[in-house]
Amino acid sequence: MFELYPWQQEIWQILLKNQQYWRHALLLTGKRGIGKYTFSRQLAKSLLCHSTTTEHIACGACLSCRWFEQGGHPNLHCVIPEALSTDTIAIADQENKGSSSLSKSKKNLSQQISIDQIRYLNDFIYLTSHQKEYKVVLIYPAETMTHAAANALLKKLEEPPANVLFILVTHQIQRLLPTIRSRCQQVVMPAPSTEVSIAWLKQHSINDSELILPLNDFSPLLTWSFVREQLTVPHQYFVDSIKQGQNFDPFALALSLQQIHLSTVVGWLQKWCYDLVSYRVTGRVRYYLKLLPAIQILSKQVDLIAYTAFLRELSTHQKLSYHPLNARLFLEEMFIRYSVMLCSK
Ligand SMILES: [Zn+2]
Repeated sequence: MFELYPWQQEIWQILLKNQQYWRHALLLTGKRGIGKYTFSRQLAKSLLCHSTTTEHIACGACLSCRWFEQGGHPNLHCVIPEALSTDTIAIADQENKGSSSLSKSKKNLSQQISIDQIRYLNDFIYLTSHQKEYKVVLIYPAETMTHAAANALLKKLEEPPANVLFILVTHQIQRLLPTIRSRCQQVVMPAPSTEVSIAWLKQHSINDSELILPLNDFSPLLTWSFVREQLTVPHQYFVDSIKQGQNFDPFALALSLQQIHLSTVVGWLQKWCYDLVSYRVTGRVRYYLKLLPAIQILSKQVDLIAYTAFLRELSTHQKLSYHPLNARLFLEEMFIRYSVMLCSK
C-alpha cells in the first residue's frame, strides 16, 4: 500500500525528480507529527522498487515491494531506539493500530540509538548488496543517537560506500552534530496548515478537532493518536480537575492518570500552565481555547514569578518522566506543586 499525506505531494515530486538528493545521505527535518517517518519509508520503498510508476511511486507488486511490505527487505536496514517499537511509530504512521501512551512495559528500554546499533551496520553496508542494488539505511529519530553513535555514523558518512543511501529523520536538527548535518542533503518537510489538518482529520472520522488540534501541537497525526488511544476521556478528567484551581484533589487525579504515559500528562500540564501565564501577560491563550473563561479566572490567582519557576520545573519533570520510580507518586508531587503555586499569592 502506498500512501502520502496530502501535504507531502509536492515535496515528493521535488525529491524524486532531482537526483542531487540521492548522493549518499538525506536528512529529513521538521516538527514532530507531520508524517516524516511514513514519508521516509515510502521513499525507501520507491527507491528499492524494481518497477516504479512514471510518478516514481513503488509498484507494490514486484519482489522488492513484497519484501518491503512483509517487513524483511534485505536491502533496507532501520535503526531506531529500542523503546520505539512499531506501535510508538504509530504516531508517525496512522495506519498502525498500536497504543504508545498507555504502554508501560517499554519504560526500561533505551530511548537512544547506541553505538552498537551503528556498528552493526558495517556488515550491511560494506558487504555486497543483494542483487547489487541500492541499499537504504533509515535512522529515526536521528537526534537520539548517543554521542559515540553519532561519531561512528560520521565516519561512514565521510567515506560513503557505493550504492548506499542513508536517510536520517529528525524532529530536532539542532541536536545533531554539525558535521553530520553538513554531510547530508537537508530537506525541510512541510507541515500542514490548520485547515488542511482539520480536513484530513474529518476524512478519518474525527470531527470537532479544532479544540484538540492545538493541544496536540497542531499536528493532525498526534491528534489522530490522541483520539485512537482513547485519551479524550482522561484528558477531560484532567481538565475538569485542574481548572478548579486549589480545590481539586491531587491524589485522586494522580490515581486516575497513573496508567497514562507520564510524559503525556506532564505535557498537558505544561500547556495548561503556559496558557495561564500567557493569558496573564498577553491576554491570549494557545492551547486551551475552549477553556478561556476558567483560564481568565485562574490566571488572576497566579504569582507570576512563582509560576515561571514552576514552568521550568515542569521541563525537568518532562525529562524525568521517562525514568520515574513510581508513576503515582510522581504525579501526586507534580499536582501538589501545581496546587501550591496557585495558593502562592
Ligand atoms: Zn515494486
